[in-house]
Amino acid sequence: MATAQRIPILMYHRVGEPDHPSDIYCIRPQNFTAQMQALAQANWRAVSIEDFEAWRRGERSLPENSFVLTFDDGFTGVHDFAAPVLKTLGWPATVFLVAGKLAGHSDWKITTGEPMLPHPLMDTAQLRALSAQGFSLQSHSLLHHDLTTLETSALEQDLRDSRALITGINGQAPTYLAYPYGRHNETVRNAAQRAGFTLAFSVESGFNRPGERAYQIRRLDVFGTDTPTMLLRKIRLGTNDGSLKHLMCYYLHRMLPLK
Ligand SMILES: [Zn+2]
Repeated sequence: MATAQRIPILMYHRVGEPDHPSDIYCIRPQNFTAQMQALAQANWRAVSIEDFEAWRRGERSLPENSFVLTFDDGFTGVHDFAAPVLKTLGWPATVFLVAGKLAGHSDWKITTGEPMLPHPLMDTAQLRALSAQGFSLQSHSLLHHDLTTLETSALEQDLRDSRALITGINGQAPTYLAYPYGRHNETVRNAAQRAGFTLAFSVESGFNRPGERAYQIRRLDVFGTDTPTMLLRKIRLGTNDGSLKHLMCYYLHRMLPLK
């Protein structure tokens, strides 16, 4: 079997009912199920984030069509709707938790688009159940602040406290960070490394290849409006644009020599 040269990482947020039509960061459970089934039928297989890290370091190989599944924020819909689907498939996944808001609500500031309503976040019991199923519990910071706006001492404390709180859930210290709002700079990346994170995840699209920037791992945004066909295009091309037009452009550019 061919081995993976590049690995895409899918990024989901909430699973449930969207607040309004432009709430594209929420996916309905039936569409999530259809997307996972389409991936499985197209021979894609989810691998754990830990295996992804070992592959990145050249310590292990993974089969072609491996991908990583991530959920940001820790909404209850991951436990209620996504986990049963993934259990059936036997697929691992990662949740990036806002450690200071466990069992609370997503009441942080959303700066773009229509305001989103606060939604419930998973509690410790739900997270332990996910952990027992094979989910990896990782950090999305302490309070979902834009980390680039924090003073160095506050930034370091935020990252340290987030690690300690998540360690308290299942005794395993998180080693991966997803930047809130995808916002990072050199100060934030260095602080993440000092705090003990070995990888950090951005919202920049594209594939990941071994040895590339450990603190700017790329992820593909999956929208609630993506049909299974659109998702398959995204994961094949490593882009956030699942439209047919984009697919045509991609293949045209590959067929025609660029001048
Ligand atoms: Zn977030």
